[in-house]
Amino acid sequence: ILDVHIAPYYSQGWQQRGAIIVLHDITAIRRLEKMRSEFVANVSHELKTPITSVKGFAETLLSGDVPDETTAKQFLQIIYDESERLNRLITDLLELSKIEKQAMPLKITEVNVNEIIHNSTQTISKFARDKNITLHMPDDSAGPVHVEADKDRLGQIVLNLVANAVNYTSDNGEIFINVEERTSKVVISVRDTGMGIPEESLDRLFERFYRVDKARSRHSGGTGLGLAIVKHLVESHDGKIFVKSVEGVGSTFTVELPKTQG
Ligand code: ADP
Repeated sequence: ILDVHIAPYYSQGWQQRGAIIVLHDITAIRRLEKMRSEFVANVSHELKTPITSVKGFAETLLSGDVPDETTAKQFLQIIYDESERLNRLITDLLELSKIEKQAMPLKITEVNVNEIIHNSTQTISKFARDKNITLHMPDDSAGPVHVEADKDRLGQIVLNLVANAVNYTSDNGEIFINVEERTSKVVISVRDTGMGIPEESLDRLFERFYRVDKARSRHSGGTGLGLAIVKHLVESHDGKIFVKSVEGVGSTFTVELPKTQG
């Protein structure tokens, strides 16, 4: 997009000798404006969906038209679940905005990647067991793998990736977490035998609110912000994140972190 200004050009006296054309490329500004307004529209939509549901079920309960106690309980459960979703959404949004504003300085120390993976997957392993998914932990027989990172943030990266792997893998599947130490970097990968991601979605996966299947993601309680947060956190460590996936076969998310920061 070009912003065009044309002004007459006079050399000596009053006689016009030509024109000056100033072309200003405002593509980046427009793109930013568009992204911002899309984001606001997305947030509003994401907040409205659970609120509509909470309001509707609460109204029905208040009207006294509920046939029996079991149904009433089901409605209350929906209200509870949707409130939880709202809570998660707001927490994720605040988190993302803090990371983007760089209002959350990293607390860099030397950490053992294997230990972080063990700690951060503890809560998830229960959900994996419920789905009879086998969680293969990294082989730590070679001893600790050190990297300079923010312990909590790195835990959050791992947790998000493994939570997604559990969410998007059906019962009896497998998840493999691997750690590889190279000369100047550490490579962490999370591979699952889940539903996979269509090729045309791979480029957009790390965008805020992007989901391959909106219905399924909502059903699993997803906010659509997890991978956007992960990407920001990885990049704030000067790292990189990649995804490879084959639909119906599975996905691999790979995080590369430099061993030393700064
Ligand atoms: P969500 O809260 O919806 O899980 P994310 O940002 O974490 O949001 O992920 C974005 C989308 O990427 C998901 O909705 C899902 O469609 C897809 N996705 C993420 N991880 C996986 C995975 N391991 N296997 C298949 N699809 C995935």
